[in-house]
Amino acid sequence: MSNFTNEAARLETARQDLATANRILFNQGVVDAFGHVSMRHPERPDQFLLSANMAPATVTPGDVLAFDLQGNLLGNGGQKVYLERFIHAAIYANRPDVLSVVHSHAAAVVPFTIVKSARLRPVCHMGGFLSGIIPNFEIRDHAGMGSDLLIRDITLGQHLAQSLGQSAAVMMRGHGVTVTGGTLRQAVFRAVYTQNNAQIQAAAMALGEVTYLTDAEALAADEANTGQISRAWDFWSSQTQA
Ligand code: MN
Repeated sequence: MSNFTNEAARLETARQDLATANRILFNQGVVDAFGHVSMRHPERPDQFLLSANMAPATVTPGDVLAFDLQGNLLGNGGQKVYLERFIHAAIYANRPDVLSVVHSHAAAVVPFTIVKSARLRPVCHMGGFLSGIIPNFEIRDHAGMGSDLLIRDITLGQHLAQSLGQSAAVMMRGHGVTVTGGTLRQAVFRAVYTQNNAQIQAAAMALGEVTYLTDAEALAADEANTGQISRAWDFWSSQTQA
């Protein structure tokens, strides 16, 4: 195949994978009518792929659009785009290692963005990637006391990306969470297990004193889990084709 054909094939595979990721995240209860998943463009690191503005469960490969790292829609346009596309744009600009981003309002996670004394921490091996301190982005620091809490421009996106720093995820006070990955599959896996860890941690906190993973345990568990991501992806993916 020519280079052009190879590139076109890789882009088509990326569109299909992104549509599958949207359906997985809906099936796993991470997103509902809101929330989105993106991936860096496979051929153009200064662009990313994200669907048009629609419920994630309805995304098809043909709905996937390309954006630049300022959040501008590329191509002929006309499609309705997500207001919060700047979350993705700013993180890709700030983190060359990030190849995929999931933003959700996962209900199990939001309480940990609201209660100051309750920080999301790894409580089980599947949440190992949550090691270290997961930052909690306070939009009031940048948008004042009367914002709608949404990342509605690139400046707010850049503030969020700075808050994320080198972490795997950033909590967003009163809003949700944004999770990153070195691959699309890893970002999806982490988004699912961020919610899972939050559910387990909240249940444990209600019972009594919680034993958290040590940083060393969390890192070791994360390394072990990274080798198992395809098992989860293949299974979840098969459930989207019913
Ligand atoms: Mn949001």
